[in-house]
Amino acid sequence: MLNIIIFGSPGSGKGTQSAFIKDYFNLTHISTGDLLRSEIKKGSEIGKKAEGLIAEGKLVPDEVILGMIQIKLQELTESKGVIFDGFPRTVEQARALDKMLSELNQEVTLLVELEVEREELIKRIIKRGEESGRVDDNEASVKERLKVYAESTMPVIEHYKEQGKYVAVPGMGEIAEITKNLISAIDSKR
Ligand code: AMP
Repeated sequence: MLNIIIFGSPGSGKGTQSAFIKDYFNLTHISTGDLLRSEIKKGSEIGKKAEGLIAEGKLVPDEVILGMIQIKLQELTESKGVIFDGFPRTVEQARALDKMLSELNQEVTLLVELEVEREELIKRIIKRGEESGRVDDNEASVKERLKVYAESTMPVIEHYKEQGKYVAVPGMGEIAEITKNLISAIDSKR
């Protein structure tokens, strides 16, 4: 099985690229952001816990996220593998993911980081906010999300570098070109 983490700052294009990568390699797409937004829509307990934190650009607690992931992984009996999008976002989550996968005799194959310059990120997120109406795509929340990314999420890169499972791909330019580079990075690791 192919278990890929698509990694990068908010606005780096993880969601867009996941859709292509998922189709190309026939993977199951697990986006914790999408899962949380759907819990909010349903008005569930998880949704209620997450709503304010998301709007402020803060992380939802690890145990909430890990509970959702555990359920998703148990549903994966027929899957060819997973593309994890927006997860893991802390080293704690990465350790827990490694453990959950090893219990299924699986492991993370590769973490691919989409590299995008800060100014381009802010531009993209503000534009997405105008189009999608996402409550966290406003300037104050974006600044907080970039700060949280640098402080809590970037260390996840080191965690997988130590395992020899890290590769970076340029995330700027033509979308199709970025997809092509991602596919060859993943292919060379299979
Ligand atoms: P995303 O759609 O991946 O940008 O996620 C939107 C928001 O959901 C984030 O800013 C966090 O508040 C929350 N979130 C998504 N994934 C995680 C995660 N793995 N850990 C903690 N919070 C998360």
